[in-house]
Amino acid sequence: GQRLLEIQGLKVHFRTDDGWVRAVDGIDIGVDRGETVCIVGESGCGKTVTAKTVLKLIDMPPGKIAAGQVMFEGRDLVPLPSEAMQKIRSKEIGFVFQEPMTSLNPVYTVGHQIAEAVRQHEGLSRRAAMDRAAEMLRLVNIPNPERRVHDYPHQFSGGMRQRVMIGMALSCGPKLLIADEPTTALDVTIQAQILDLLAEMKQRLGMAVLLITHAMGVVAEVAQRVVVMYAGKVVEEAPVGALFATPRHPYTQGLIRSIPRIDRAAISHARLEAIPGTVPSLLNPPVGCRFAARCRHAMPECTAAEPPLREVAPGHKVACILYPEVRS
Ligand code: SF4
Repeated sequence: GQRLLEIQGLKVHFRTDDGWVRAVDGIDIGVDRGETVCIVGESGCGKTVTAKTVLKLIDMPPGKIAAGQVMFEGRDLVPLPSEAMQKIRSKEIGFVFQEPMTSLNPVYTVGHQIAEAVRQHEGLSRRAAMDRAAEMLRLVNIPNPERRVHDYPHQFSGGMRQRVMIGMALSCGPKLLIADEPTTALDVTIQAQILDLLAEMKQRLGMAVLLITHAMGVVAEVAQRVVVMYAGKVVEEAPVGALFATPRHPYTQGLIRSIPRIDRAAISHARLEAIPGTVPSLLNPPVGCRFAARCRHAMPECTAAEPPLREVAPGHKVACILYPEVRS
């Protein structure tokens, strides 16, 4: 059937003094109802640009959607005017970013901010909206929610602020939650609590989650399906079990090798610096496989033409010439 979210052939480019940076360069990503999909990759791989494009939160200009569609429940969001898009954000698609201080307004109480979001979308009375705000704070496990709705963002710790943001994102019952590095700024214990909270919310509310992260430990904990991005492309996609058990793309293999142990203590250490070399410039991306300069299996054919993303096992796709396509 129809997927909740279906990104098709998406290209997002940014104008710079030196030319167009092809930050996202032709990707397909789907999310089913109720499913948790992780997009993983190093900074600059295009994962955050992808998330922001779905929400239409990229600045245009300098950004430009050069090609493709973002189908949400069968409707393309790309041509939608900003008012229509504003309705979709947080009513249909909630979002949480890395640093909640930038998304919360410091001059209003958190209760006021949640209540306003709810009132706009549901036309509740002020009183009912404040009750809903307290209910949302309780839902995300903030102690004394009736009192804390009257507090300002700076009166909460970093972890508590992120809970507030999640509560706000969920207050209108979105079908999809986009979370971009929601735990990166937090210490390890709090990270684990926030991930538990996301999992619990997802189960209770039945929404789909698109989680953007650079940390493989986070992926292992929360994902059902994983999309690995490199230099503006999807290089591998697989159910989480298959990705960790039999990673195919040499880049994915490097990512997984860079995790000392897949457990909670490893989350904050699971950085990706372990793979030698750097990501190519997206001003003039190399012809052929964009990972070739860092790949120990690289051969002349790799740089002749771009390896297509092919299905190599059920639900497991990889863009690398080492693997023959499996036809069913
Ligand atoms: Fe390495 Fe070639 Fe596969 Fe690219 S296509 S990942 S260079 S083996």
